[in-house]
Amino acid sequence: MEFTRTLTTNPTSDEERAKILQDPGFGTHYTDHQVIIDWDIDKGWHSARVVPYGPVTLNPAAAVLHYGQEIFEGLKAYRHKDGGAYSFRPESNARRLNRSAVRLGMPELPVDVFLQAIKELVSADEAWIPDGDGESLYLRPFMIATEAFLGVRPSHRYEFRVIASPAGNYFGGELKPVQIWLSETYARAGHGGTGEAKCGGNYAASLIAQLEAEANDCQQVIFTDPTNDHAVQELGGMNVFFVIDNGKTLVTPALDGTILHGVTRSSVLELAQEKGLAVEERTFTLGEWKQRLDEGNLDEVFACGTAAVITPISQLRGRDMTLTMPEVKHDGVWATIRHDLLGVQTGAVDDTRGWLHQ
Ligand code: PMP
Repeated sequence: MEFTRTLTTNPTSDEERAKILQDPGFGTHYTDHQVIIDWDIDKGWHSARVVPYGPVTLNPAAAVLHYGQEIFEGLKAYRHKDGGAYSFRPESNARRLNRSAVRLGMPELPVDVFLQAIKELVSADEAWIPDGDGESLYLRPFMIATEAFLGVRPSHRYEFRVIASPAGNYFGGELKPVQIWLSETYARAGHGGTGEAKCGGNYAASLIAQLEAEANDCQQVIFTDPTNDHAVQELGGMNVFFVIDNGKTLVTPALDGTILHGVTRSSVLELAQEKGLAVEERTFTLGEWKQRLDEGNLDEVFACGTAAVITPISQLRGRDMTLTMPEVKHDGVWATIRHDLLGVQTGAVDDTRGWLHQ
């Protein structure tokens, strides 16, 4: 697809950008440009463009504002020592965007157009990629329903955009194990629902549980399936793994339609298998979790996702319980896999799997 390019006449100054990149935090600063591609029912995708970063103008009757037709993605681009900029498995995000689109009655975006959009934005805003340890440029592609129509049906117009935000460490400061809160009142997703779609509504539904987590000194919330013996699902923004059998087996909840197909999750599974670990994608209930802890048959619990990569979990708290995980070992399975994964992402280790896109 042909992209037009209109660069900003008012870019962030070099000094201002350098100041931001010194301590980018997460999700608070945006680069100078964005990509926009329009879709309508007659023409399909058209008018792909790189334009200055700026607000979205919407008719107040736009479908996204009423019926929540919105989907998004999250991926990172890293600056390597060779000076190049690389994104990690972006075609997985493109495919996941399309699965989300189908679930929400929205149009699919050809994978090559998604990849091109990422490339166009990263090349326009290359100076915004931080090069500190583990730092990156976080890319946020999203699609919204823009048709002004109050009837309940899929919109006839959409906008796909990509914005970018320099990112440091998701949890701030050095890597610390996290305490997670068990959501006993609120469910995130049910069977047949939108759990495996990356749509804004899922996150809106999880926020009250996240507030509960914070009120109880926890950084993240974990959801279970109340209709299936409290099978563990995932965290508010990360997938979850359990290490058992003295570090020989890795267990993670199966993709049963209620959880996100995490790109990090699938990378962790692949890396673990290559290391000779047995991997099990299956039901892992809260009961099994408690029993294994009681019997000393649980080695590690960790969460993974694009933003935080891999983070060990030190405690599970709930209304009437606190479960303390085995002491986090700095040479644990979580640490080895994190090291390998970050190695590929940052260019310290050769990419033998074709995971990087320049
Ligand atoms: N689960 C949820 C609910 C998420 O929002 C995310 C972040 N995208 C993940 C899991 C992890 O997915 P990924 O590894 O693709 O970032």
